[in-house]
Amino acid sequence: MAKWCDVCDRPVDGDVCEMCGNSVQEPEREPVPLRWRFFVVATAIYLIWRLYQLISWLAH
Ligand SMILES: [Zn+2]
Repeated sequence: MAKWCDVCDRPVDGDVCEMCGNSVQEPEREPVPLRWRFFVVATAIYLIWRLYQLISWLAH
């Protein structure tokens, strides 16, 4: 993935910009959405709980 020089506003292939000599950092990636994972797990637990209640209610 190409890096980006903020000073020259152009893509850079290496670690240092050829134009201005600025050291280019890796572009920050989006962190893993832990909230989304938590939401999925919570939803699964909720659905299992509701299913358990439904089965319990039907068997009553
Ligand atoms: Zn530059």
